[in-house]
Amino acid sequence: MLRGYEMDKTSKRLQKQNERDRRIEAMYRQHPEIKEIDDAIAANGHALLRAATGLAAETLMAGLQARQSLLLTQQRHLLLQAGLDLSIYEVSWDCPLCQDRGYVLPGQKCRCALRESAAEQLLHSGLAPLQLTQTFDNFSLEWYQEPQKYERILHTAQKFAQQVAQGTYAGNLMLYGAIGTGKTHLCSAIANHVLAAGGSVMYMKASRLFARLRSQMYGDNEGQREEDPMETLLQSDLLILDDLGTEKRTEFVEEQLFTLIDERIIRRKPWVISTNFSVDKLLNHYDERLTDRILGEAQRLRFDDVSIRRQKIQNSEGN
Ligand SMILES: [Zn+2]
Repeated sequence: MLRGYEMDKTSKRLQKQNERDRRIEAMYRQHPEIKEIDDAIAANGHALLRAATGLAAETLMAGLQARQSLLLTQQRHLLLQAGLDLSIYEVSWDCPLCQDRGYVLPGQKCRCALRESAAEQLLHSGLAPLQLTQTFDNFSLEWYQEPQKYERILHTAQKFAQQVAQGTYAGNLMLYGAIGTGKTHLCSAIANHVLAAGGSVMYMKASRLFARLRSQMYGDNEGQREEDPMETLLQSDLLILDDLGTEKRTEFVEEQLFTLIDERIIRRKPWVISTNFSVDKLLNHYDERLTDRILGEAQRLRFDDVSIRRQKIQNSEGN
């Protein structure tokens, strides 16, 4: 299936390149003077290349360079007269970023490919149905006794989500504080914003994440291990690890957690961690190597307002 998709991409790319070639040929037929100048540019360009690799005298190089820029100016002038511009030489890619390859670097999907599979992304995001309804718009400051403080937190989270959605590196976030203070809602809102913009998101409860990694890595069914589960987690535009600290502690878990956080930092891929732990508890619970990475690389958003009103709302929702 993947192979078919790749072949489809390749033939579409060739088709677009042929389109460009035919477009240029048609222009040359209509404007032979442009063909003449383009041939001169190519010939002079070759002479320049030979001169540069052959350690030619500086005066010769300078002459060729001057001629090249003169030719290019003439070319632009002729194009202008013909009502054209340089874009005629370019393939009109649907996605100039990856030139319709679907990836930017081998194995790294382009944003266009991610957007194409937006519905699929949503399905694979790990968000529970209820979380799909949790957005920035319905994150209510009325839940809190100190709304101003949470307005700042909300603003920081929104800005973060916007940057991730735009593909700008936004650093990382750590949301921490007591249970039932709105951390998961804000995590979901960030995820939904990025997904809506066509980005890929992996949302995971810490406990589930490690169970999944373990079963996939050490699963008894060899045939099912098609792709490296860690690699999938490393590649998503955004990783959200909710409820850190609720997972069962083992050496394996700590090692995987460190690899995940550290490797994403190296790749400049943002993550959001939410935890019910205080900073002190986090420091006591985990290895220093890991807490250094988390605390050193994330902007911390503290949820310490245990709002009675919010608890009331939650209770009435049976949550
Ligand atoms: Zn692309």
